[in-house]
Amino acid sequence: MKFCTHCGKEIMDEAVICPNCGCPTASGKSNNLINNPDDEVNIGLCVLSALIPLFGLIYWGVKHKETPKKAKACGITALVAWGVSFLFSFVLMGDIIRYIF
Ligand SMILES: [Zn+2]
Repeated sequence: MKFCTHCGKEIMDEAVICPNCGCPTASGKSNNLINNPDDEVNIGLCVLSALIPLFGLIYWGVKHKETPKKAKACGITALVAWGVSFLFSFVLMGDIIRYIF
């Protein structure tokens, strides 16, 4: 058992909100504010995502809950790289078609 930091009433250990006053308990607060020290934008992973967009998208899919910042940076880089390469291939395709006909 622990005690509410707001009203002092005894509450369940796993309680996130005090049933007496409705204030978030200490453990509830700390659970919401957990910051993963590993969650920093990683330049190496971003470069890899730019070179292999599929890798960036998969990385985001797998890691976005664990390290949201890092995964988001990879995912965005992958999408931008994919968009740019798609645009380039489109332009190139237009040139080739014009060349053939
Ligand atoms: Zn309370």
